[in-house]
Order: sequence, then structure tokens, then C-alpha cells
Amino acid sequence: MEILCSRWKGRWELVSKISRSIQSVLGRIEAAAERAGREPSAVTLIAVTKTRTPAEIQLAIESGLLHLGENKVQELSTKVEALGKGPLTWHLIGSLQTNKVKAAVGLADLIHALDRDSLLEALAKEGERRGAPVRALVQVNVSGEASKHGLAPELLQPFLERASSRGWVQIEGLMTMAPADADPEAARPHFRRLRELAQRMGELALPRVQMKQLSMGMSGDFEVAIEEGATLVRVGTALFGERDYT
Ligand SMILES: *Cc1c(COP(=O)(O)O)cnc(C)c1O
Repeated sequence: MEILCSRWKGRWELVSKISRSIQSVLGRIEAAAERAGREPSAVTLIAVTKTRTPAEIQLAIESGLLHLGENKVQELSTKVEALGKGPLTWHLIGSLQTNKVKAAVGLADLIHALDRDSLLEALAKEGERRGAPVRALVQVNVSGEASKHGLAPELLQPFLERASSRGWVQIEGLMTMAPADADPEAARPHFRRLRELAQRMGELALPRVQMKQLSMGMSGDFEVAIEEGATLVRVGTALFGERDYT
């Protein structure tokens, strides 16, 4: 009896903690959009669920978060198996090895980290095999930080031209990661640069290349990202608490 009660208490505490965090993040998203004169509905919150248990993720889903993000194909596979696909939208937000493309395309609705020709070719082949274009965002390293994945900004236009003429990959926008910094304002120039790049690339009007999504902003800087035009924010810690990798 006592065990049962404490178990329920634990579950209840987890439920109320996560739902409070979700309400808080949604409120902050709305306020940031309003500050920038944007519709809050133009911003989609992707709950980043890496390291989280299916029970925790279920809580987020029950609170209405239907966009979920994982950064590894293997973990994405486990989560999709546990939680299913529709009505959920799964985002693969981490870097992708070409040998995992087949699995990734079967699992993810949108791939955020297309950043090189070998991956473009592998995705296009898989799209062609399935008879359905693969939806992807191109990751750009706007900060120039050596440790970051992503195309250099000056390589973006020729890359998009190659993607456009290759076919079987539908480019929907750009993605970036700002350098880690305790001050969210430090990310602003990088986010602004991504938005400006997207604007210029959009003007090229390349077939199969749209610039409708900007995936930028994480727990530490999603409000700044929204002020700079983010349409997809990728938030883990601010929803679920610190990750435990032990
Ligand atoms: C983990 C991760 C996030 C979320 O990070 P938080 O700081 O926990 O919000 C966002 N984007 C990518 C690519 C990630 O790997």
C-alpha cells in the first residue's frame, strides 16, 4: 500500500513538474513571438527527447507536444517503436552518417542536418528508391566554430543548386546551432545571419528548395532565436530538466 502510494506520488510529481515546464516554455515562446511582431503559431516547439524515457515523453505528448526531436538514429528508432508515428512528427536533429540514411528516412519526418554532398546523394538515392522526396533542412555553420557541423555560408548557394538539380530531396529551410554561451544575446548575430541567408537563398527560387523553415534556438537561447525569425525551436532541458547520461 505504502509502496503504491509513493509510486503514485512520484508519478504525480513528475507529471506536474513537466507540465509546469511545458506551460512556461510555451508562454515564453508566445511572449518572444509577440515582441517580434510574429504570430506565436508560426513557431513550432520541438521537444528534444534524447535520453528521456517513453513515460516522460508520453507526458509531453499528453500536454499537446506532437513534434519530437532525437539526435541519434538508434535512439530515434527505439522511441518511434515505443510511441508510434502519427499523430507525432519526428525530427532527426543530429548529424547523420550515410550508412544510417535508410533507417533515418524511414523513421524521421524531417532531417535537420544535411551538411555535405555525400549525405545529399545518399538521401536522394533513398528518396528515389522509395518514390518520395526526402524532406531536409541544410545545416549551416554560421558561427564558423571549428567544432560545429554544417556548411560554411559561402558554400550554401552552390550546394542548394546541386540539391535542386539532383532531385528526390525536398529542402525546406536551414538549421544552425549557436556556440554554447551563458549569454543568450551572444547567439543573436548568428541567428540573424541564418535568417538573412535564408532570405537570399529564397530569392533564387530554385526548384525543390524552399526557405520556409528556420530551425534555430535551444533551451538557452530559443527566445532570441524566435525574435530573429526561428520557425522551429529545439528544446530539451527547459522542458524535462538536465539530461543524465550516466
Ligand atoms: C540536444 C539538442 C538540442 C536541445 O538542447 P537543450 O539545450 O537541452 O534544449 C537541440 N538541438 C540539437 C541538435 C541537440 O542535439
